[in-house]
Amino acid sequence: MTGWTRRDLLAGSAFAALYGVARPLVGAEPSSLPWRNWSGGHVAYPQGRFAPSTEAELMEFLATTSGEVRPVGSGHSFTPLVPTDGHLIVIDQLAGLLEHDSATLRATFGAGTRLGDMGGPLAAIGQGMFNLPDIDRQTLAGATATATHGTGIDFTCLSGYVTDLRLITPDGTQIDVSAKDNPELFNAARVSLGSLGVITRMTLQNRDNYRLKAKNWVQPIEEVLEGFAESAANHRHFEMFPLTHSDYALTLSIDETDEPINNPPPSPEADAAFADAMRSWTQVPPRERMPLVNGLAEQIGESEAVDESYKILSNVRNNRFNEMEYAIPLEAGAECLREVLRTIIDKEVDVVFPLEYRYVSRDDTWLSMSSGDEDHAAISIHRTAEEDYRPYFDLIEPIFWKYGGRPHWGKVHSLGARELTALYPHFRHFQEIRQSLDPTGRMLNEHLRKIFIG
Ligand SMILES: Cc1cc2nc3c(=O)[nH]c(=O)nc-3n(C[C@H](O)[C@H](O)[C@H](O)COP(=O)(O)OP(=O)(O)OC[C@H]3O[C@@H](n4cnc5c(N)ncnc54)[C@H](O)[C@@H]3O)c2cc1C
Repeated sequence: MTGWTRRDLLAGSAFAALYGVARPLVGAEPSSLPWRNWSGGHVAYPQGRFAPSTEAELMEFLATTSGEVRPVGSGHSFTPLVPTDGHLIVIDQLAGLLEHDSATLRATFGAGTRLGDMGGPLAAIGQGMFNLPDIDRQTLAGATATATHGTGIDFTCLSGYVTDLRLITPDGTQIDVSAKDNPELFNAARVSLGSLGVITRMTLQNRDNYRLKAKNWVQPIEEVLEGFAESAANHRHFEMFPLTHSDYALTLSIDETDEPINNPPPSPEADAAFADAMRSWTQVPPRERMPLVNGLAEQIGESEAVDESYKILSNVRNNRFNEMEYAIPLEAGAECLREVLRTIIDKEVDVVFPLEYRYVSRDDTWLSMSSGDEDHAAISIHRTAEEDYRPYFDLIEPIFWKYGGRPHWGKVHSLGARELTALYPHFRHFQEIRQSLDPTGRMLNEHLRKIFIG
């Protein structure tokens, strides 16, 4: 047994080393300091960056200027939600724990707070977030703006835990938003793609502080899929990372525990061994790869870790990639995943990056990809940042559409206003609110014009 784990597989240096030519960055002529997203695929040369240190400064800026503005979080979206030739609004200084209520277990943070900077302060006041995404470098405002989610059939995306927020509209007006005071705006503003104005603070419903135990192991994909609903019901969190050109998936369960903390760092030796093995896969044509990948998968050992909830739920991803993710109505999720995996084999797609398959609970926001009366299965495909993701993603995206999928707003997709209106019962309601708050469209960049106008 090598002791390779899921974390080693995704975070290991294998992927970056395997591919050659960097994708050229496209954008305007470099006349100002460039802005790039995390994966490096989108670049912009904004006219300026405005980083208010108070809400009053932000209100004044918006009230006294005109022209395009785009709020930016930590730039971790794979879609061009942020790029602008106008002004970026950076709310890094509007961060930190502002207030909390120990009776209701609610806490208010500056919206520029990174998710990874919330766990410690929350633990200190006896609270913990219900769930977190795969990484925690995103800002609270940025993560909720795209309905960022983790895994777990009982857990909504992060936006579902927002109870109150403060919105500074495009003309500089402050609105405090909650389900009680302005329910329609509340449903729109919790997942807004930064199109309604700039959010400066958010209150979250949390729970008492808690500890989690994660277990990773390898299992045949079909076996995991057949028992997925039962496993998802039996574990607080359950997900799998199907290996491409393989019968196996890396599988993860996470449950509450009182066991002592035991969270060993990833092993550099295992990383290196895995990177070598991955390199050997890519030297073999995809159609001959399955025995090799299966052979390696069968050697991957189980692993366990116990730690505070916020240290278990998120990971560190050092190697850059691009990702497409669609939420598929739950009953169709397994069939959709099977078709995606079959297509990768049949079309001999040269990809070694695993997929990700997880459940997300329904919620009552208007634009979350799991919004409405149904729970969803979220399926992700990935390409290293150095590669052109388009041919692979173009091949798979129609399969997601066939199964009624909705795209993650922060991950690559090609949909525009017409298709999105059909996918979201409240898309028109959202548009009415957006147009009333931003009649001149100063919050819209090229990507958002495609999404909202077509
Ligand atoms: C390595 C990696 C792992 C990821 N894992 C997951 C995962 O497990 N689950 C998941 O669902 N997603 C995941 N994502 C996607 C990511 O969570 C989202 O794209 C998220 O929106 C990024 O947050 P950000 O702070 O970087 O925001 P940005 O990408 O900078 O911005 C995102 C949106 O938020 C808006 N915004 C930012 N600040 C404000 C504000 N103050 N007011 C109003 N709007 C604002 C922006 O205008 C933009 O529309 C991952 C991304 C990466 C790179």
